Amino acid sequence: MLTESEAIERILSAVHPLPPQSVPLRETFNRFAAHPLLAMVPLPGFNNSAMDGYAVQAADSKNTLPLRVTGEQPAGSQRDLKVGPGEAVRIFTGAPIPIGANAVIMQEDVTKIEGGTQITCNEPVELNENVRLLGCDICVGQRILEIGQRITAARIGMLAAQGLSAFEVTTKPRVAVVTTGDELAVAGKLLQPGQIYNSNGVMLQAMLGGLGIDDVTVQHAADDYLQTADTLRGLIASHDFLIICGGVSVGDHDCVRPALQALRVKPGFWRVKIKPGKPLLFTQAPRADGSQCTIFGLPGNPVSAFVTFELFVRPALLKAMGASAQELKHREVRAVLDSKLTNGSNRPHYVRGSFDGQKFIPQGGQRSNELLALGNSNALLRMEPDSELAAGTDVTAILM
Ligand code: AMP
Ligand code: MG
Repeated sequence: MLTESEAIERILSAVHPLPPQSVPLRETFNRFAAHPLLAMVPLPGFNNSAMDGYAVQAADSKNTLPLRVTGEQPAGSQRDLKVGPGEAVRIFTGAPIPIGANAVIMQEDVTKIEGGTQITCNEPVELNENVRLLGCDICVGQRILEIGQRITAARIGMLAAQGLSAFEVTTKPRVAVVTTGDELAVAGKLLQPGQIYNSNGVMLQAMLGGLGIDDVTVQHAADDYLQTADTLRGLIASHDFLIICGGVSVGDHDCVRPALQALRVKPGFWRVKIKPGKPLLFTQAPRADGSQCTIFGLPGNPVSAFVTFELFVRPALLKAMGASAQELKHREVRAVLDSKLTNGSNRPHYVRGSFDGQKFIPQGGQRSNELLALGNSNALLRMEPDSELAAGTDVTAILM
């Protein structure tokens, strides 16, 4: 049985970023830069005013002599105005600084005299005060984006300010989810004796949506290895990732491994030293074009499916989406454990709990089928095998 770190290593060394594609800027949101970007235009593109006020020579603001207002410079044009000693130009935010001016005094800090044809300065301004200098934010040739960085809304703003309307990001993987199990009923149908609703299918779809993967194929297979094999065969051919849920354990009706064997998919690895989620399966199936379909078999218990997705599937998908190594990691937080915890298992236990900014509060009902505690959790705490943690211990949790 592999340890978690061995499993992660095996997964990440087998999964590679998909090819880049150019997409409209709006659609790059939450995707990953396929190449670094060097700035093509400086920001600001010209010296301009940060305030509504008057462009002056800073030295003139240090006395109370009136300054003659010689013109007006709004944003959006270049009137080539000049400011000499004893002069001022009425200016607005974003407007080019007139030649000869080296500061802008805010309109709140002047007194208009002679019907606004002159002003006196009530506050001194320093050299370049309220002036946004050419290139002081971004200069031409500066590296402003690294390969694998997440395109956030702020970065979309930065790319747009470069004049770009599209950008190259890594292609999103085509993902299919296959739930398995004869006991599963579709929502809205009356449950027959022994049936439960299929909750993992839509839960996994939502988790994929959280990674920006919205276009997901979802299918269901009965506990029959030939039917399962049939379903998987078609999906392998047309998807980059196949996330199978349930049927990967050792029961007589667990037919995912027999189905993969029937399809001659190499066994990959099966079982990881972790709780919940031991029966995790990982493999890859080659496709006609030489690419691989990456296959995960997640345990059917909802909490196990959730935790194994977070720990193993998520980083694999992010890597395929072109995320940098840094982006694959969950955010870690330091917390004070709110109540005593015991892990009597010989596997590391990922305890579900809530992090309130200070405390990690374990949620009750830690069995792998118990959804209420999972629903009330936003963090995972990894406990070493056969260990105990006293209330008040400083711990590191990961945010989900
Ligand atoms: P399995 O991994 O197939 O042995 O399933 C383990 C447990 O998870 C069983 O109690 C199943 O009924 C349950 N289970 C499997 N698939 C799902 C699903 N899609 N939604 C909800 N529960 C499931
Ligand atoms: Mg099953």
